Amino acid sequence: MSFDTLDSEVIKKGLCCGCGGCVGVCLHDALTIDPSLGHTPQLEPSRCVDCGLCLKVCPGRGYPVNAMAEEQAKASGDKYNPLDGVVRSCHMGYSTNPQTRVLAASGGVTTELLLYLLESKQVDAVAVTAIGSNNFPEVHLTSDPEVVYESKRSKYGPVPMLSIIKQLIREPRKIAITVCPCQMAGWRNAEKIFPKLKDCLVLSLGLYCGQVQTYDSLTAIASTIGLKFPSEGTRFIGWRCGEYPGYARFQLSDGTYMDKYLYPWLDIAVPLFNLERCYICPEASNVLADMTMGDYHKGRKRETAVVCRAPVGEKILAEAVAAGKIECRRMSDEEYTCGTPTTIVIAKFFPSLWRNEVKKKLRQPHLKYDYNEEFTRKYPLKYKMVFTVQCVLLAFFRNTTVKTWLRKHPRIMEMVGHFLYRYPGSLKHPIKFLFYNPSKPSR
Ligand SMILES: Cc1cc2nc3c(=O)[nH]c(=O)nc-3n(C[C@H](O)[C@H](O)[C@H](O)COP(=O)(O)OP(=O)(O)OC[C@H]3O[C@@H](n4cnc5c(N)ncnc54)[C@H](O)[C@@H]3O)c2cc1C
Ligand code: SF4
Ligand code: SF4
Ligand code: SF4
Repeated sequence: MSFDTLDSEVIKKGLCCGCGGCVGVCLHDALTIDPSLGHTPQLEPSRCVDCGLCLKVCPGRGYPVNAMAEEQAKASGDKYNPLDGVVRSCHMGYSTNPQTRVLAASGGVTTELLLYLLESKQVDAVAVTAIGSNNFPEVHLTSDPEVVYESKRSKYGPVPMLSIIKQLIREPRKIAITVCPCQMAGWRNAEKIFPKLKDCLVLSLGLYCGQVQTYDSLTAIASTIGLKFPSEGTRFIGWRCGEYPGYARFQLSDGTYMDKYLYPWLDIAVPLFNLERCYICPEASNVLADMTMGDYHKGRKRETAVVCRAPVGEKILAEAVAAGKIECRRMSDEEYTCGTPTTIVIAKFFPSLWRNEVKKKLRQPHLKYDYNEEFTRKYPLKYKMVFTVQCVLLAFFRNTTVKTWLRKHPRIMEMVGHFLYRYPGSLKHPIKFLFYNPSKPSR
């Protein structure tokens, strides 16, 4: 049975990213994702006809990203490189609506482009995600600007974005979609299965992607500020609320908020709670999307870094600027090198590729991509050793027994997380980590 293969090869091996592609292509409604049970799909066996589409669409085991991106680049006559994809032009921008700019994840360019596409009637609907009343991210295929506006900001839990595919197959419409790289790959796989999806997609707004965390990371984050979550009357508001770069925010039943600053919650959530797949996923730059949007943390400004990869991305960005929706300027070379487009390659691409290589050598579940082996072969030995040790440390601290113990001791969990997240930098000052005070914001 196809789903059995998906279950054994992807889900049970920890390679599912919760993209919802399998749910989207299952026209027999045999698959669902209920976030309260986890981010992976559940099967209703009596409905399954063993058509095999869930397995075909799934990006979980990896995908030939370079071949796929090269094919796309050929169509527009662009040059592709495996590190940062096709780069037609790079920009820094923000929404001219001050409210959107302040409340968005970075500068609100993504929300503004989606609203512009709806307003100019270039799309019938857009696919976005907002946090629902059950505290989990919900997916909306919507033409309502209010829903788009409410969906701003990044959701760092798995989002079954591709579940919307089912609605499009049943009722094709022109759409734009926001996607992480694995979701984008799942979409491209789905286009091969249902070619009419290609005509539906007007613009794919890719997000740079470091990782996502399991939903229960919120319980751990809340415990470090003395809050029980989930609990009656407590709502999770978002991961990036308030002043830039933002706070994880919970609202209590009396209407007051409790916040945890971005970097201390990342310390816990990234090393201890991100998906197994994310640690070995090198695909951070979203090279298959029409454009990629990211933070530009340096200088801590509210701006979105935008890399246009396809002519349609450049065209729509220029139109939205001309319509006065977005303020935009070209990214300088220094901004490109010091900001997200380059730092994510250094911080994510290389380490993940090596960690994946280690897993492969140890015959553990790993991802199959088509990066040239030269990439990892050329790494300096010191680099290989440092990241091999990291794999061992992570395997130890993410072990269920150790993690359960850490969860009962939030202060120690924060120290360990801080050490692991800042590894290998943390090796230089190990003692400092014993005196780490997470109530003092630090980068
Ligand atoms: C999981 C994740 C990891 C990220 N990691 C990095 C990183 O390491 N470095 C970096 O520079 N940038 C990263 N980003 C991108 C960054 O956080 C911003 O989303 C991006 O800069 C756009 O900002 P904005 O203000 O233009 O977006 P906004 O105007 O706030 O709009 C954000 C849009 O993204 C959509 N969205 C939110 N979460 C998801 C999701 N999980 N899946 C699909 N769509 C979603 C929302 O529906 C909304 O429409 C990440 C984003 C996500 C979702
Ligand atoms: S019906 Fe097809 S897509 Fe749905 S679960 Fe079964 S094999 Fe997968
Ligand atoms: S298609 Fe997506 S949600 Fe479904 S099993 Fe594969 S990775 Fe998981
Ligand atoms: S790190 Fe990779 S697997 Fe994880 S959400 Fe991002 S693109 Fe998907």
